[in-house]
Amino acid sequence: MALEDAVPELRGQPFKKMLQQVLRTGIDNRGVIPATTKVDGHLQTSYYEYWYRAIKDSDGQPYAIMHTAKDVTDQLNNKQALEAAEVAAEIQRERLYSFFMQAPAGICIFDGPELTFELVNPLYQALFPGRELLGKKVLDAIPEINGQPVWDILQQVYDTGNTFEGNSLLIPLARTSEGAVEERYFNFIYQARKGFDGKVDGIMVFVFEVTDMVNVQHDLQKAEGLITLAIEASEIGIWTKDLLTDRLIITPRTRAIHGLHDNQEITLSQATQMITDEHRERVENSIRYAIENKESFMEQYWIQPVDGGKARWLRSNGKAHYNESGEALYVSGTIADLTEQKEDDNRKNDFIGMVSHELKTPLTSLNAIIQLAQYKLKDYPDQFLAGAMDKAAIQAKRMSNMINGFLNISRLESGKIQLILTQFNLETLLEEVITETRLIVSTHQIKFEFTAALQLYADREKIGSVIANLLGNAVKYSPAGTAISIKCEKVDQNVIISVTDEGMGLKKQDTEKIFDRYFRVESNDTKNIAGFGIGLYLSAEIIHLHQGKIWVESEFGKGSVFYFSLPLTLQTD
Ligand code: ADP
Repeated sequence: MALEDAVPELRGQPFKKMLQQVLRTGIDNRGVIPATTKVDGHLQTSYYEYWYRAIKDSDGQPYAIMHTAKDVTDQLNNKQALEAAEVAAEIQRERLYSFFMQAPAGICIFDGPELTFELVNPLYQALFPGRELLGKKVLDAIPEINGQPVWDILQQVYDTGNTFEGNSLLIPLARTSEGAVEERYFNFIYQARKGFDGKVDGIMVFVFEVTDMVNVQHDLQKAEGLITLAIEASEIGIWTKDLLTDRLIITPRTRAIHGLHDNQEITLSQATQMITDEHRERVENSIRYAIENKESFMEQYWIQPVDGGKARWLRSNGKAHYNESGEALYVSGTIADLTEQKEDDNRKNDFIGMVSHELKTPLTSLNAIIQLAQYKLKDYPDQFLAGAMDKAAIQAKRMSNMINGFLNISRLESGKIQLILTQFNLETLLEEVITETRLIVSTHQIKFEFTAALQLYADREKIGSVIANLLGNAVKYSPAGTAISIKCEKVDQNVIISVTDEGMGLKKQDTEKIFDRYFRVESNDTKNIAGFGIGLYLSAEIIHLHQGKIWVESEFGKGSVFYFSLPLTLQTD
């Protein structure tokens, strides 16, 4: 039976021609070909591996064909799937490669136990500009890692398969191949790569260089260390109070000052409880005021430490810190223990007080003798003697004022100064002081302007000493021939007295300290002028005790105006 009769669906397919060709040429034909046949009534294309072998007679002429065929459809389908999978894998590989190449971290892959650079992305390459890495063994490409811990780590990752993460690790490396080895810091991950057999066959490296960041950190640490050293050397304690909680963060020095043992915590309320009663409210108010008005505060006060140790005299400075919307978040400050200084001051004041007190008795006798002599010399014909006695009286009074000043200082320091309030006429007092000054000062022209007749209720002697001091300074610190004017006026419920001179004036930084105890301006102009720097301090204390104010306006080289004001509310009818 003819082939196409037996299997009619093969008609039109190439088989007949192929068979005829084998018969004609005697050359075998072998391959894989699709053939469509009917299976269960349906046409179906299958692939056959066929072999048409020419059978030849003794003359070598083909006379028949031996045909073997094997259905390889399934095998072929698998191969196609395999190829498709391979293409997909290739695409994935390329994607992964371009991901590695564009990644914002340095990435490289080491292959094999000798760690050959198999992949190097641009950011990794940028860590070693110009150095040839790709395809090279790591020890050849970066020989300086030999003997470094990082080389051991790489080998360990390869041997164990365990991932290693390095944080800010120091790896001394050169950038270029000729460059010097630098101290460089890296954050990195070494991740073992495993093959199909589960064995490590490489290492993936993800790396960021953090040298700049670490260097900044080191600089900060150094600066912090220096600050800590300076703070420790200065024996200053530091404290910070979180305003949302009552918690107080304190340094060991602050802890020691307050008699707390190591690591003992303390709240702000507990700390303020240590402040003695006479100072507590003032300190609390001052801190509150500073926070509300965005100012800094400075307070000195006694505390009784918790450990029962001796009372301590502290100076606390501080200020609040605010967020962008102006809310206060925390207050921080420093604490200095000034107990020893305070004790020294007290001893000095006691000594000054004692000496002044001792000097007062002979001086009072001297004054009495001078007064008696003045009385006896009243009608004496020798005018020189009378005049000399008047001058002696003035000098003795100046000496008394000075000694009273020292006495007042020591009384002030020990809180024993007392105002003796009486009602008196201010104009009369001013005139008295001015007349006394005019008697001993002939170098200056002293003018007096009075705009209101005022009765004052105050300590007459002490207010007199303030005026005398301001007037005396105006004379001392201005050249002969210049004028000094004293004014007294009533402004609202206050009387303001001012003393204006045309003298050396004051620099801005000095005006801020002028009322401090023992402060004197140090300059060539002042070095030959006698003084102790207590006059203005005492004057200010006296005015403050009267609830008044004292201040200065001055232009360096041109002159000064010293003012003080007293509330007239102290006045009685
Ligand atoms: P003293 O005059 O005894 O030194 P004071 O307390 O009265 O002490 O004054 C303190 C310092 O203020 C003075 O040493 C001087 O440097 C400065 N001073 C006071 N008054 C004047 C003034 N009118 N003009 C310039 N400087 C002044």
